[in-house]
Amino acid sequence: MQSHHIRDYQILKTIGTGTFARVAIAKPKSQKPGTFYAIKMINKEILAKLKQVEHAKCEKRVLMSLDNPFILKVYSSFQDNACLYLVMEYVAGGELFTRLRLWHHFPNDVALFYATEILLAIEYIHSNNIIYRDLKPENLLIDHTGHIKIADFGFCKHIAQGERTFTLCGTPEYLAPEIIKSIGHAKPVDWWAFGILIYEMLVGHPPFFDNNPYKIYKKIVKGEYEFPPEISKPAAKLISRLLILEQENRLGAVRGSEEIKAAKWFRGVDWGMVFRREIRAPWAPNLSGPGDTSSFANYPDDDTFFHPASASVNELFRDF
Ligand code: AMP
Repeated sequence: MQSHHIRDYQILKTIGTGTFARVAIAKPKSQKPGTFYAIKMINKEILAKLKQVEHAKCEKRVLMSLDNPFILKVYSSFQDNACLYLVMEYVAGGELFTRLRLWHHFPNDVALFYATEILLAIEYIHSNNIIYRDLKPENLLIDHTGHIKIADFGFCKHIAQGERTFTLCGTPEYLAPEIIKSIGHAKPVDWWAFGILIYEMLVGHPPFFDNNPYKIYKKIVKGEYEFPPEISKPAAKLISRLLILEQENRLGAVRGSEEIKAAKWFRGVDWGMVFRREIRAPWAPNLSGPGDTSSFANYPDDDTFFHPASASVNELFRDF
């Protein structure tokens, strides 16, 4: 039975922060020792100021409705005057981003392992008529057995068959050209980001790269990128088909994940074994116990985060 008030949890340590959210590892006071959750605390006032109220409601709805081995489980949600709270499984291995920066880039088989699990997650998300829109190594967590869990559904969106949506969101390096050009976008944005991710895993940096986001956008809409010589032909072929500028011609646009699974780079993959998490992970965290937070950085406390929001802001969350 989940508790529905933050005072029922002992907050142990912040393990992540975002623009309007903090994520902490927490122990429920009433459950047996050794039970840990990650609680995402979303500040209502900041959320309202940044006009992200609908995104937060969508994140909760979607995460509580999805059930897939590669998607973070959310067990319950509640709110108080200051914050919204999502009680989630604690994923102890940290971000794929951390692994990638430590190892600089992944060997082909390691990139392939992560890519297969992420592909199945996107396939499942799309089958629920949802686009994810924020694929990047920071949002891909590694669990205690080394397998992938996708986190942060703050930008996801329900989309009807044939519908397109227009909100500008995502991370500069991972944005599809149709998002930058505001011409309407749909599921193919996730396959574009999947191409960027495979490139970044194999090469160590994304294909469209600059300190200035506007220069990144310019390169993206022109499709201006290169492959280093060490990248294999099948990988380069797949990436170049995922990074096709016109969304309707992009791999995955017509028959979804089936088209992508058929790529030579994935030849020999047993997708049933991938789904059952039977493929041995290339790396798993070395943990001292289920509450080990050594895979995460340290974050300073911020008490202002828990200041109550105004009555008018609280009103916006009556249906959360
Ligand atoms: P988010 O705002 O959801 O992107 O979360 C910010 C960061 O907190 C993530 O990038 C992760 O490093 C961390 N994080 C989020 N959810 C979890 C979780 N369930 N378990 C462990 N770490 C998490």
